[in-house]
Amino acid sequence: MRVTVVGGGVVGLSCAHRLAEAGHRVTVCTAGKPGESTSAVAGGLIYPPMLTADERVTRWTDVSVGVYRRSLAAPGIRFLPGSITHGADQPSPPWLSAMTDVTRDGERIGFTTALVDMPVYLAWLAEQVAALGVRTEYGTVASLAEVDADVVVNAAGLAGGALAGDDTLVPVRGQLVHLADPGLTSWAVTEEGGEVTYVIPHGRHVICGGTEEIGRGDLDPDPAVAAAIVRRCRALVPRLGDAAVLGTRVGLRPGRPSVRLERIGNVVHDYGHGGAGITLAWGCADDVVELI
Ligand SMILES: Cc1cc2nc3c(=O)[nH]c(=O)nc-3n(C[C@H](O)[C@H](O)[C@H](O)COP(=O)(O)OP(=O)(O)OC[C@H]3O[C@@H](n4cnc5c(N)ncnc54)[C@H](O)[C@@H]3O)c2cc1C
Repeated sequence: MRVTVVGGGVVGLSCAHRLAEAGHRVTVCTAGKPGESTSAVAGGLIYPPMLTADERVTRWTDVSVGVYRRSLAAPGIRFLPGSITHGADQPSPPWLSAMTDVTRDGERIGFTTALVDMPVYLAWLAEQVAALGVRTEYGTVASLAEVDADVVVNAAGLAGGALAGDDTLVPVRGQLVHLADPGLTSWAVTEEGGEVTYVIPHGRHVICGGTEEIGRGDLDPDPAVAAAIVRRCRALVPRLGDAAVLGTRVGLRPGRPSVRLERIGNVVHDYGHGGAGITLAWGCADDVVELI
């Protein structure tokens, strides 16, 4: 079948990869290059920080962790131990079954997972997709109905809502700071008073975060917020005390009450992955192939 995937972020490229492997003639139509997408800004820590119970999330995470494990030869991927905080009186999240080296001590849950240096990985993934024969066209799709294909996959991230006439999709703004990596061998996420702090080392740089501003859609970095992130991350990981500040990034998560993955006529929607698109991309791609 002739399939056009609208969107060249991690979700669109993962779909294009799986669809080409399944024998479809695939075109990716994307407004921007992979390196310009929200996916390229992400921290790249593989676990789903979702608050809603959605059984699909565990399955999708499990599939993606497996893919990242089998892709260890790819640039930008490595597995490291780390920990998150989770209500001491809460049962462990179901997706924990996808992780290895799991430990629990009160509100701290430790596990080993993949850390993906997104700009490096996305460039590699785009090459893999091209090598499978997928064509890429650059341009902005104004209407899914106008796309000339047997099936269209809506993987346009935050723009996917407007293309689908879905007003439940909102930007969830996140600001990050990159520090020089002093050679950290673990990652950390902690939550205090509703504020999430995370440290995700990628070898040359450490991604420090973060913020979550629901409904805010501008990309201007806030210097005061950046300074507060650096302060919190240095308190969490004292080895970052002297690490040079390399820069600040801002991205807009495609926030939705739940991921939209369904087929309506000749359109398969795959958008609204919030703060977990890198974590869910491969599992969702399998479901897209199934629906087509
Ligand atoms: C600060 C921050 C930190 C994050 N950290 C993590 C993390 O650690 N782990 C994790 O799993 N997730 C993380 N995320 C979430 C993750 O980045 C997103 O869920 C994911 O990038 C969504 O991918 P996507 O491909 O759907 O969208 P995008 O990456 O936004 O890609 C959308 C694509 O669609 C194209 N497009 C848009 N409109 C059109 C149009 N009309 N026509 C054609 N093409 C169009 C764009 O050019 C782009 O190529 C983070 C996000 C942010 C902002």
